[in-house]
Amino acid sequence: MSPPVFRFAPSPNGRLHLGHAYSALLNVAMARAAGGRFLLRIEDIDTWRCTPALTEAMLADLAWLGLHWEEPVLRQSEHISVYTQAQQRLKEEGLLYPCFCSRQDISRAGSDGPRDPEGQPVYPGTCRHMAKEERDRRLACGEAAAWRIDMAKAVALLAAPLVFIEAGEGSDRSETAHPENWGDVVLIRKDIATSYHIAVVVDDARQGITHVVRGRDLFHATSIHRLLQHLLALPVPVYVHHKLIDDEQGRKLSKSLGSRSLADLRQEGVSPADVRRALGFS
Ligand code: GLU
Repeated sequence: MSPPVFRFAPSPNGRLHLGHAYSALLNVAMARAAGGRFLLRIEDIDTWRCTPALTEAMLADLAWLGLHWEEPVLRQSEHISVYTQAQQRLKEEGLLYPCFCSRQDISRAGSDGPRDPEGQPVYPGTCRHMAKEERDRRLACGEAAAWRIDMAKAVALLAAPLVFIEAGEGSDRSETAHPENWGDVVLIRKDIATSYHIAVVVDDARQGITHVVRGRDLFHATSIHRLLQHLLALPVPVYVHHKLIDDEQGRKLSKSLGSRSLADLRQEGVSPADVRRALGFS
């Protein structure tokens, strides 16, 4: 049997903090305990915010922390065409539609309606109702559009509820995905040719990831990922959504190490061993 495969997939849109260090170290520890592999993936599709300099700084921080990963490192910005293929498949199935709304249009139209699991207004579906002629005309004129999933249509294709294994904190349990709570989420952004949700499921599959170990803040997004895995016929990894360092442990750590970046800590003479120990790794 092939060994389990773990990954740490940061977005280099700033310097790494203790929360990132915790996630990376937990992935490494779990990979080691399972006799598995550990991969690093740079989630830099947002090339406005994720600069090459920040990526290099991030790699240096992770190396300083004592992490070892397999080469080559997958950089998502170099693989946009792979995500486009997946998007094309969803478009061909009639599951995506272009949305021309501005941020303002959306907050005005959706402010009194339901909220998504992150507390943001669910998209009210304005452009879902647009006549095909108008849609085609605006696209042909080159008007910028985001592409959203028609969630009701996608969910109607399911023969049974979608589930995934959540293996965090103790025993494994089966979780039911609720993508419908998100409404028509954006799968191709207006400013870049893909989105986090598409890129993450495509790459987890491409890299053969068996265990996705990441922060609890992404637990609800897993419902979207589970739906996309179903629609794109991709394998389903086991998920571990770990505690966030800015809650319980963060308060304890804040006096000693604070919420400063790893680079700041390093400059102040904190050693990698201090960081590992403070985060509960030996
Ligand atoms: N790139 C995401 C982030 O830095 C994490 C993605 C994931 O682990 O699925 O928040």
